[in-house]
Amino acid sequence: MTEPEPGGERRSAELAAGLAEVRQRIATAATAAGRDPGDVELRVITKFFPAEDVVRLIDLGVADFGESREPEAGRKVAAVRELRPDSPATFDMVGGLQRRKVKTVARWANRVHSVDRDVLVTGLAAAASAARNEGVRDDPLGILLQLSLDGDPERGGMVSDGLPALADEVLAAESLRLAGLMVITPLTGEPERWLTEAAAAHQDFLQRYPDARVLSAGMSGDLEAAIRHGSTCVRVGTAIMGDRPILSP
Ligand SMILES: *Cc1c(COP(=O)(O)O)cnc(C)c1O
Repeated sequence: MTEPEPGGERRSAELAAGLAEVRQRIATAATAAGRDPGDVELRVITKFFPAEDVVRLIDLGVADFGESREPEAGRKVAAVRELRPDSPATFDMVGGLQRRKVKTVARWANRVHSVDRDVLVTGLAAAASAARNEGVRDDPLGILLQLSLDGDPERGGMVSDGLPALADEVLAAESLRLAGLMVITPLTGEPERWLTEAAAAHQDFLQRYPDARVLSAGMSGDLEAAIRHGSTCVRVGTAIMGDRPILSP
């Protein structure tokens, strides 16, 4: 792992332009919805892109990142920490999580957005507790429960009736902190309708869990609609990073 190359200036300029455009989109959408743009967190999703790009973004002032694939993510976070040890950057896990990956994810993740079943809650609780005992993390691991809007198991998520049982388990775990809900807008049907449902589910959830303030919704293609429906955290990859490289198997 080396410092970003001198020839990488063009890449930095590209990232800066994408970032400026997305920040402008967020500001415009929030203002149009009568919301404060500062209330919408931007997580830059850097999956498939190298640690060098994360470092370029850190040098551009970004501190909030998201990753979706382990072990790629853990390796990248370690490389970035080495290159920029003083950066306050945090990394959220936003992608589907397998039970056997919880151990490593709990070591580097600030929050996990994709918790949708109880084996993940118990696994992450134990793993976060171990990581704290080993001194590799200080704060409790933030947990967002992923709400499934259409019940499609392929896309992950728990249907809304199942959320309180998971939330209660998170609250009972000392190493975890219940942060909110996450949704991925289904590809079928009207995005606006799904986002209206997500917003309503989050409002219901807040009645019972008032600290679960985060609604993580909206990606490159639908961030304006998500912000209109109350998203407090958009997860944006392509619009900043460019198209993801196609990996060989
Ligand atoms: C990749 C990914 C994103 C970013 O998607 P873009 O369309 O590239 O902005 C957001 N959320 C999750 C869960 C992802 O896996």
